[in-house]
Amino acid sequence: GRRIVVVGGGLAGLRTCEALRAAGYDGGIELLCAEAVLPYDRPPLSKAALTGSQDTTFDVDFDGLGIEVRLGARAVSLDCGRRIVTTEDGEHPYDALVIATGAAPIVLPGRGRQQVLRTSSDAEALRGELRSGTRLTLVGAGWINAEIATTALSLDCSVTVVEADSAPLRGPLGPRVAERMLPWWGAADLRCDVGVIEVVEAGPVLSDGTLIESDVVVTGIGVRPDIGWLAGSGLDIDRGVVVDESLRTSDPAVFAVGDVAARWSPRYGSRIVGQHWDDARTGPATVAAALLRPDERPVFDPVPYFWSDQFGHKVQFVGYRTESDEMVFRDGDDGKWGAAWFDEAGRLTAHLTVDSPRHMVQARMAIDRGVVVDPDSIRDLAAPLQSV
Ligand code: FAD
Repeated sequence: GRRIVVVGGGLAGLRTCEALRAAGYDGGIELLCAEAVLPYDRPPLSKAALTGSQDTTFDVDFDGLGIEVRLGARAVSLDCGRRIVTTEDGEHPYDALVIATGAAPIVLPGRGRQQVLRTSSDAEALRGELRSGTRLTLVGAGWINAEIATTALSLDCSVTVVEADSAPLRGPLGPRVAERMLPWWGAADLRCDVGVIEVVEAGPVLSDGTLIESDVVVTGIGVRPDIGWLAGSGLDIDRGVVVDESLRTSDPAVFAVGDVAARWSPRYGSRIVGQHWDDARTGPATVAAALLRPDERPVFDPVPYFWSDQFGHKVQFVGYRTESDEMVFRDGDDGKWGAAWFDEAGRLTAHLTVDSPRHMVQARMAIDRGVVVDPDSIRDLAAPLQSV
């Protein structure tokens, strides 16, 4: 019978197996997982799971799915001509292949110990070291390190944060929003406008020569799609595995989904490397449809969405902003607030909410519909996002 191999047992890989079954596929499915454990959910790893107070397992009936799960099976090469994936254990032939190998953290030079937070075993290692008085240095003040800082401060660690930009999250959110969030970092020793050259035994060495003596160093400066194993496969690669709007690669028998994919977005007329949980959750249904019913030409082109829980706040962001977009703050009750971005035509392009999931739902719908809004009419967070 027909055989589909899925490489990568993260959210996207697991959801692909489920989506194939939901779409009626009853042939063979093999799921190759580099890690030694069954697929689990990553976002909690820097949140409640970092204190051990949240479980990260997916509620999935693996037996019922009827898939062959191979744990500790890291794909090392792909031969598209012969349709074979190779792991250390041998060859895995396929009729169709889905690449869902996600992304891996970037690390800095140096011989000192650097930790990253990507896997459940990374989280376990870190959890064991965060206790009262631990001198923790976080390199990078991005989304994940903001969450680690929150947890570490709650455990009474002494937290230093080094950020190359002039404020945390200034790149993704712009200077005014970044400035408004800056006070959240008050309990940490935040050092901006300075980079880390290398990490030595005692800790990170900054570009101004300062050594920050640390018990634990966590590097959180971004991730790169996990594509090393695809060298020589002949697939188009550009930051990630290049796929069209049906998530199909340059080889019609091969698909890619989740953090590893660089997908073409007709909505934005550009290629998007997502790196958000929601893309990995929803993309697999399109893969299953494209694989099983190619005539229907299914399209995956959502408005990007993600969230972060940091310093006691729920931060949610939807859309795609560019430097030239205009921004207005929106203020609500009980410390809730938002920020809305507009393009030259007055169309809503992106929206941030802080502690107000309800307004995020409205913003998602408004951006999806492409509404044109009068910025002055929405400075109150309670005002509706209606087209003018
Ligand atoms: P992954 O989850 O990375 O899964 C890929 C899997 O493939 C991994 O298990 C990996 O071991 C395996 N693999 C890699 N190479 C190979 C190979 N050669 N052979 C076999 N297997 C391989 N997103 C949000 O939107 N909001 C959040 O709040 C948020 N918080 C996060 C917190 C943390 C700590 C982390 C790490 C991520 C967070 N994310 C968040 C991002 C989100 O988790 C990812 O977007 C999502 O996990 C992507 O799923 P994926 O299946 O594409 O990739």
